Amino acid sequence: MRRNRKAKIVATLGPASSDQATITALFEAGVDMFRFNFSHGSHEDHRARHEIVRGLEKTYGRPVSILADLQGPKIRLGTFQGDAAVLETGSKFVMDRDETPGDASRVYLPHPELFAAVKAGQNLLLDDGKIRLAIESNQDNRIVTTVTVGGKISNRKGVNVPDAILPIPAMTPKDLIDLEFALSLGVDWVALSFVQQVSDIEDARKIIGDRALIQSKIEKPAAMLDIDAICNASDSVMVARGDLGVELPIQQVPRAQKEIIRASRKYGKPTIVATHMLESMTESPMPTRAEASDVANAIYEGADAVMLSAESASGNNPVRAVQMMDAIIKEVEADPTYRMMLDAQQVAPLPTAEDAICNALRDTTCAINAAATVTYTKSGHTSMSAARVRPTTSILSITPELKTARRLAWVWGIHSIVGKDVTSVDEMVSEATTAAVREGFAKKGEYIAISAGLPFGASGTTNLLHIATVK
Ligand code: PGA
Ligand code: MN
Repeated sequence: MRRNRKAKIVATLGPASSDQATITALFEAGVDMFRFNFSHGSHEDHRARHEIVRGLEKTYGRPVSILADLQGPKIRLGTFQGDAAVLETGSKFVMDRDETPGDASRVYLPHPELFAAVKAGQNLLLDDGKIRLAIESNQDNRIVTTVTVGGKISNRKGVNVPDAILPIPAMTPKDLIDLEFALSLGVDWVALSFVQQVSDIEDARKIIGDRALIQSKIEKPAAMLDIDAICNASDSVMVARGDLGVELPIQQVPRAQKEIIRASRKYGKPTIVATHMLESMTESPMPTRAEASDVANAIYEGADAVMLSAESASGNNPVRAVQMMDAIIKEVEADPTYRMMLDAQQVAPLPTAEDAICNALRDTTCAINAAATVTYTKSGHTSMSAARVRPTTSILSITPELKTARRLAWVWGIHSIVGKDVTSVDEMVSEATTAAVREGFAKKGEYIAISAGLPFGASGTTNLLHIATVK
């Protein structure tokens, strides 16, 4: 089984998509990576989904990626008398350390770190930005604000702090528990929410080691200020437009999306564009024109993957939403403008042997009209570097490690398979040509271009480019 497109689809699993039949239908419709959202659901829910997805791999003989998305330091208000209050625009509103239920003049804020970090002149956003507060002062454990946009607020609504770097780690005690659980299942990727700085990724990597790869969710203005270094330190990034659109003025989100995609491409890190892509399909069987354009534009911009959240997790049409994304992506990829745009965004090679080889690989496949690019990889590095140059051919990625094959399943252009370990160039060529024919990429007499690293079996040694003819 293979997909007839290069860009990939990520779908979040939830109450609308947790049974065997629906997950199977989602996969058949085109999902390349399933996202487990640890903000919702129990460990047992995630375990059951994990079993079903791994079962699909066996049935279809194809590796599938799983992303465990940690909730991160989501800040929430305390509670209100009668569960809600109405904040009037122009009135004063205080956040304090008093646990008694709040009212229209004050509320408990159960996050001491916030009191240590915010200053007069900064803004606080409540309930996905529906209510806005301007901070007047912050002393003696009282943050005094003026309500600049009022409205009704209820218990435990989210608080966004766009203007400050908070002295909090990217992982909360709940995240650490969820992380160990997700790793014990054997997920392929871990997504960190609200990444603010490079040290957040470094701290997570100390815990995760090589048990999974790390995806940074870009949803804080602070992360945008250091986006190059954050992309470089991460294994992949997500344009997390849900929270990013609350923390940044919404008109800045399209530009931020392009900046994030450009930065991640520069460092060869795959990117997902996420949130509200086909939002109206949670209710309706068809997306809006604007949503169809949004998915298409993310692909034109060069994203590796587009993601469904509520559409697949809790909406009425999870499978149709995947089919819609699949159809939109194929339409973009059939447009010659897409290739022109990818080429126009082509990035200079990094000064590494790997990048030099992959650039040559790309030119070679064009020059000889190769039927496929084949990459041999242990860690996945060679295949990701090949994806970075966006070759015109598919990338048939062969690895002896199931773990690596799964990690690569959602990367642009990669058809990821597990193959036997090779020990010589002859053996590699023979395996590569056999696989290229078997997987439907090449026929007798056609060229394939192969890249690998010698010695075989070592990680990060891409140094070989070989042209072979299928016999
Ligand atoms: P979330 O992340 O769905 O976990 O909030 C994605 C986003 O903020 O866009
Ligand atoms: Mn988010």
